[in-house]
Amino acid sequence: MDVRIIREYRKSLSISIDENGFLIVKAPFFLSSKKIEEFIKSKENWILKQKEKITNKKLFIKNFDFFNKVYINGNEYEWDQIEKSNKRITKASFYKKMFSQIILSRAEELKIYFNSNITFKLCNSVCMWGSCNAKNIIKLNWKIVILPKNLQDYIILHELCHTKHLNHSVKFWNEVEKFNKNYKQNKKELENYSLILREKVI
Ligand SMILES: [Zn+2]
Repeated sequence: MDVRIIREYRKSLSISIDENGFLIVKAPFFLSSKKIEEFIKSKENWILKQKEKITNKKLFIKNFDFFNKVYINGNEYEWDQIEKSNKRITKASFYKKMFSQIILSRAEELKIYFNSNITFKLCNSVCMWGSCNAKNIIKLNWKIVILPKNLQDYIILHELCHTKHLNHSVKFWNEVEKFNKNYKQNKKELENYSLILREKVI
């Protein structure tokens, strides 16, 4: 695994793996290389686990063929057939149309349990499924429409719960659990799909 060491004004060491699979170690300016090596060695198990996660995600995405197929609510369809009946439509515009029909209406349905002053917007991010800000504007990635329904609901409810707690505190997760008893399972399952966010759909 490639290691990148970043020297910064900081007191302690930190370790993470970026989206390209590089090991990023942030270290204080004057810490010896030996100490850094020891630190990396002590994280060996964690690193192995992360590597395994990355490999699994890469294997999982191989199940998809974004060139010949489109995926709606976790089901696959031949793009050829959709294109025939919707002349000159692009895959991205087809997905966005489906997003408006399926995801936005579902989000409005789930909103009734929350503050009515919530606005949903479509987003195109390559790194997140959704976000929520202090003005109760919830951005949802159009690629949510690709996911199975249980994961679509998990993402929408997750963001709706952020209108009550704008953090990932215990209180926040308790709120999520009120609406979704299987949220832990969904959260884990969703990790498999994260590479779809970076997939170019044309
Ligand atoms: Zn969140």
